[in-house]
Amino acid sequence: MKIMPNRMDRGFEKYQEEFEKKAVEVLRSGWYVLGKEVSSFEEEFASYIEGNYCVGLASGLDALWIAFRLLGIDQGDEVIVQGNTYIASVMGITMNGATPVFVEPDAYYGIDADKIEEKITPRTKAILVVHLYGVASRMDKIVALCEKYNLRLVEDCAQSHGARFNGQMTGTFGDVGCFSFYPSKNLGAFGDAGAVVVKDKKLADKFKVFRNYGSEKRYYNKVVGANSRLDELQAGLLRVRLPHLDELNREKEAIANRYTEKLNNPKLILPKIPKGATCVWHQYVLRCDERDRLIQYLEEKGIGTIIHYPIPPHLSEAYAYLGHREGFLPITEEYAKTVLSIPMYNGMTQEEQDYVIKALNEF
Ligand SMILES: *Cc1c(COP(=O)(O)O)cnc(C)c1O
Repeated sequence: MKIMPNRMDRGFEKYQEEFEKKAVEVLRSGWYVLGKEVSSFEEEFASYIEGNYCVGLASGLDALWIAFRLLGIDQGDEVIVQGNTYIASVMGITMNGATPVFVEPDAYYGIDADKIEEKITPRTKAILVVHLYGVASRMDKIVALCEKYNLRLVEDCAQSHGARFNGQMTGTFGDVGCFSFYPSKNLGAFGDAGAVVVKDKKLADKFKVFRNYGSEKRYYNKVVGANSRLDELQAGLLRVRLPHLDELNREKEAIANRYTEKLNNPKLILPKIPKGATCVWHQYVLRCDERDRLIQYLEEKGIGTIIHYPIPPHLSEAYAYLGHREGFLPITEEYAKTVLSIPMYNGMTQEEQDYVIKALNEF
């Protein structure tokens, strides 16, 4: 049997008719950028996330860097972020000239809230929380710290569409919730797409102006903005998938629960969810001391895996200028050496799951 780490075709096939009908409708409409599909999606997504306003953008990275730009964070400012994230989280900070200050993760792969306070300096302006792998971070402590030190709070929800902490949706705790709809995300488009969910109407309006060259009225430009518009086709296709998101997340949850129940190899450390949090299982990430041998073994059995992520941002070439050396973040670095995402996707058959479980237990 051949099992790929992810199968986006299965997620398409499940609602193929609905997707094709919407695509043709948008193509025939003659209106392709910033129209009724985008504004309807913004309303529907804000309502799903239980937030106030949503603004559609071109990608998750744009959501992050434009959020920091509009919150006024720039050169000389520090933003606290976990060490073990996808590099886009960090680029969202540094594209504005600000400095990322890394904090180690906890046992659930989220930022360790107990290690944040010691990193706060007079230059700290914000905390960026990443709900990694679909697990909601422990927000109670983080929100309290933001209030105590008057910090901005931004959430990277690229992997957490629909996850909650103490009943509250991720993306609604702080000033801005940043979402990606890259095809492999829990709510995936068929190309690049992103959005922000914002509490404050004035800030939401700023995003709308900024994404369109800083212009509200055509050819009248208020600020130097960007081109970061969500297009009608992606918005329309996202509107088809959104009503199915809960069902899609539940399907992944059932697969994850099955993995957790049936995997019994003591060589593997399985993922856990903190008290109060829910997880939408963007990835099922386990750890193994013999990770690289495990990859090879699974490969020979036809099972593909992915490492999220093999090089932590502080050690990547792109961030050599920050001057961090190996050993600076021992837990982050240990995770980079041992984490492995095993195949898990919507439409994964029980037979495929059992094949993965058997192979892992026999390792
Ligand atoms: C995917 C992802 C992003 C970036 O989203 P794009 O739409 O690819 O720009 C940012 N942060 C995290 C945690 C992600 O997984």
